[in-house]
Amino acid sequence: MRGDGNLADKYRVDFGIALRLSIARQHRLRVASEISEFYFRFDFAVAALIRCGMLDMARRIRSEDVAALPARERLVYLRREIDGPIVFTHGFGIEGQLIFYWICERDLDIDVVTLDTGRLFPETYTLWAETERRYGRRIRAIYPDRAALDRLVAKQGSDGIYESKQARAACCDVRKTRPLDRALSGAAAWITGLRADQNEIRRDGGLSGFDASRGVLKFNPLYDWTREVVLAETRRLYVPINSLHAKGFASIGCAPCTRALRPGEAERNGRWWWEQDGHKECGLHLPRNRPAKDSPRRDPVEISAGCG
Ligand code: SF4
Repeated sequence: MRGDGNLADKYRVDFGIALRLSIARQHRLRVASEISEFYFRFDFAVAALIRCGMLDMARRIRSEDVAALPARERLVYLRREIDGPIVFTHGFGIEGQLIFYWICERDLDIDVVTLDTGRLFPETYTLWAETERRYGRRIRAIYPDRAALDRLVAKQGSDGIYESKQARAACCDVRKTRPLDRALSGAAAWITGLRADQNEIRRDGGLSGFDASRGVLKFNPLYDWTREVVLAETRRLYVPINSLHAKGFASIGCAPCTRALRPGEAERNGRWWWEQDGHKECGLHLPRNRPAKDSPRRDPVEISAGCG
């Protein structure tokens, strides 16, 4: 495909139109400036895809084909069809534990990583160690950049996250979003444990798609599963889960930003509970470098420091 300008142009137009229609549908025609920004990023991403042959993969792997498979077989299919490294980001939730079980069961060549923010619950570290022991497979830890972390804590203290949304977003940026960039560096595809019924942003993500802002194909093999079905499957397969679930925790992230649910609360209400009007997202599943629309602008000093 290299050097074939006409073919590249055709792919750019076909794929560009499809993605723009998809964006319009998914985001329900949000303000034009946001979409224009996305197009701009996408043009670069398409050029990169054409260069490395990923566009052929993107065209070959159709959402409906993936959707027709049982969830565990989706992973096998993706590993077979995708040329290049696949990264699974494991956060030790029930979905991640099930996906990790399937990866180990078939010994799939998928790089399993976790973003160790340094602020996880002790119970999560215990589960991490227990999971590695049980399946005999290492889960690669990605840590925040030391210098960026030093600057963050010097500026806002260890618990400045409660002071403002901006401070909280800066913490997520240093401890999660930028390490994710490193985790996905060189990857052809990214697998996550997102489910559609968690919130609108996750529903908009679809079962499979292309994250133009990060230049990777993205797959959510449990997209069409409910929490209850995932839990039932972990029980059936004796997959270990975080002991905090038995104490009322549902979605479990960093300790300072997660609490148990009150009766009747939605699954992600225990995250950043002091922020009443947010999407309950840290930024990992938002387009890179674009905060949620109701989030404050990120600190430009923090953003410019090695965002890559
Ligand atoms: S979830 Fe909380 S502690 Fe963890 S990175 Fe985000 S703000 Fe920081």
